[in-house]
Amino acid sequence: MPTPTAINPNNALNFSGGPGALPQVVLTQVQAAIQNVPEVGLSILGISHRSDWFAAIVQELEDNIRALLGLDKTYHVLFLQGGATQQFSMVPMSLLAGKTQLPEYLHTGYWSKKALFEARRITPLRVLWDGEPHGFSCLPRDEELAFSADAPYLHYISNETVEGLQFNRVLGRDDVPRVCDMSSDFLSKPCEAERFSLIYAHAQKNIGPAGVTVVLIRDELLHNIPDNLPGWLDYRSHIKAHSNYNTPPVFAMYVVLLITRWLRQDIGGLANMALMNEQKAAALYAALDESHGFYRGRAAKGDRSLMNVAFNLQNEQQERAFLAASRQAGFAGLSGHRAVGGVRASIYNGLELSAVTQLTQFMRDFAQKA
Ligand SMILES: *Cc1c(COP(=O)(O)O)cnc(C)c1O
Repeated sequence: MPTPTAINPNNALNFSGGPGALPQVVLTQVQAAIQNVPEVGLSILGISHRSDWFAAIVQELEDNIRALLGLDKTYHVLFLQGGATQQFSMVPMSLLAGKTQLPEYLHTGYWSKKALFEARRITPLRVLWDGEPHGFSCLPRDEELAFSADAPYLHYISNETVEGLQFNRVLGRDDVPRVCDMSSDFLSKPCEAERFSLIYAHAQKNIGPAGVTVVLIRDELLHNIPDNLPGWLDYRSHIKAHSNYNTPPVFAMYVVLLITRWLRQDIGGLANMALMNEQKAAALYAALDESHGFYRGRAAKGDRSLMNVAFNLQNEQQERAFLAASRQAGFAGLSGHRAVGGVRASIYNGLELSAVTQLTQFMRDFAQKA
């Protein structure tokens, strides 16, 4: 337990929106690997990406992700740089050759807005639903969504990290390729991956440090890639090179490998991970709901995220007081995203239930004293 005056909060109480908290057991392995990866005898920071050892790391990482998601051989599993933001561009650059219909996008929050902004540099598009008039406080119901049968693809974001909104179902038509940014809930629960044609997720919310982005792409989508793309921006370059087209982020990929081992061996798979994440979220939302309006959840109840719990207090002054007191008490990363303010507790895979319990206790105490 950190002392009440701790200025440097404990890793265990890190509620950061991203890069997020990683499991302590993995941090300990990473710490050792900085000095020396046992089977190599070198620091992870100085191992060649052209070594046989690294090729085996990439293979195991790919195998682990396939096993966790139940992916078959129709998918390619890639590890790229450029973050989710690069995918906002690579997706429309890759999937529209020869298409005359417009791709369809959902505008559900801060990150959707960024995805739309980048896509519009490349193509006109159709916004199927816009949550901005609702202040991004809710997600669409099925009856509000008229998907076209001839759209080249549908793009949406499974978890809006800033607003704390999460879809709890798969959207769209089975005959239109689904493209999903799962950056902030990837590998936090089973996701019916086989119903998507392209999934992308950077590592730094749930599964590792910044620097690597996982892309799962169905083979049939490669037929639409134009031939004049720069090599790096062509998914086929990375497929051919086994994610080793140019120097990949060796360290970040190694940490993601350790996380996937942890998910498989220590946690026992994504269904178990989901149960743990549901427990954490339930505890936090209960603290909001039992506060008689002292803490006000941002998201409509049916659309609440299991990853990012965003809420407000009565006014900004009280929020500042809450955040200052929480830092004093050893909690880190609770400030809301700079775009929306307020408070946000991100409770990614690496954060333990005990951290959430400590936070809910702190919240009850704070509300009582206020
Ligand atoms: C954080 C986040 C991003 C931004 O990703 P970068 O890797 O910084 O480009 C995109 N989408 C979602 C859903 C996010 O949570």
